Amino acid sequence: MTETAFETVPAVAPAEPPARTGTVVMKFGGTSVADPEKIRGVAQRLVQAKQAGGRVVGVVSAMGHHTDELVALAHDVSPRPKPRELDMLISVGERVSCALVAMAISDLGLDAISLTGSQAGIVTDTVHGKAKIVEVRARRIHEALDQDRLVLVAGFQGVSTEYDITTLGRGGSDTTAVALAAALGADACEIYTDVDGVFTADPRIVPRARKLHAVSYEEMLEMAASGAKVLQLRSVEFARNHGVKLHVRSTFTGDEGTWIREEDERMLEKAMISGVTHTLEEVVYTVAEASPADLFEALAAASINVDTIIQIGSEIVFSAPLEDRAETAAALEALGARWSERDDLGKVSIVGAGMKSHPGVAARTFTTLRDLGVDPRFVATSPIKIAFYVGSDDVERAVKALHDAFDLASPEAERQHA
Ligand code: ASP
Ligand code: MG
Repeated sequence: MTETAFETVPAVAPAEPPARTGTVVMKFGGTSVADPEKIRGVAQRLVQAKQAGGRVVGVVSAMGHHTDELVALAHDVSPRPKPRELDMLISVGERVSCALVAMAISDLGLDAISLTGSQAGIVTDTVHGKAKIVEVRARRIHEALDQDRLVLVAGFQGVSTEYDITTLGRGGSDTTAVALAAALGADACEIYTDVDGVFTADPRIVPRARKLHAVSYEEMLEMAASGAKVLQLRSVEFARNHGVKLHVRSTFTGDEGTWIREEDERMLEKAMISGVTHTLEEVVYTVAEASPADLFEALAAASINVDTIIQIGSEIVFSAPLEDRAETAAALEALGARWSERDDLGKVSIVGAGMKSHPGVAARTFTTLRDLGVDPRFVATSPIKIAFYVGSDDVERAVKALHDAFDLASPEAERQHA
């Protein structure tokens, strides 16, 4: 049994008043607002978009490493900060950046207003540190847009159904942006970042990796779940479930980036593989003689996002994020399970919608690994993915060899966005 577990995403309240045309949500990541000059640059971009005639909502991440600094500060004060207070603290980073961008926009002569997640109507569940959006009450944003203002929203945060400040998990500003795009009926959600788009592999490992012009939601989900860091996984789920078109592009150039949208015929005709992704940030657990139902219920109750699940005889093997290691161990202990963990493996995944109609991908994958002398461990597949674990030291070699084997650097494989 193999499967990739994706979280379900709740419904977003339909936009009220009804969706208007010409709304765009533009999200800027932490490196895009890292210093005063960059903040002024982001303000410029937002003003240009507004002057082009649209209703513009900007979503910003915290400046540079501000969130990391706040997390470190909390741990300097307290060995185990209370999750509620940690959220109260780390939500501050985005308030800083969005207020500063609003100031810079005012200096350019436009009317701008900054809003916290809570003021923007982002309502979440009560799970601190990785809250899920349950509703977007966009009335206040609509009012400000109706007054011809440019609206800035602090990413990464909301207010829970218990009226506490929550955060949406690391990288969560992407999800803020997509949820707002869905709720506002925006034409597109533009994700401005420090890379040019989504690549066929990590360019630091494969210098010839190519920027992809268009990928399907399903491909991006698999890629985000398996190590592509450019988008938070949950934001892609949200986009798919609500049909929000995403455009991942550079803040620092005017170039087109990568479109993430519904699959279309031309995507399938082109390359069968879109990319090779990898991750080293997972822990693989082996649990003996546990009931899968009890096991995964306990992990879900602890809000642990399980990825690959493989059952081998009476053993269950699964992976979970490194950051959830302590919680995972606690849940397994509480269950009284016999278990072990290892963190010396990395996961390599080959993702492509074209796999559905082109046989031979598995053959080429495993032949390539054999020729390389790399031994794949647990193998998991979906209709558009083949993933396997190898020793951490072999990850880079495997990624490079597979990128070559599937000829991903070739421009022939390019797909166009309509
Ligand atoms: N500032 C938050 C983080 O560093 C959220 C984000 O950047 O999207 O994770
Ligand atoms: Mg990010």
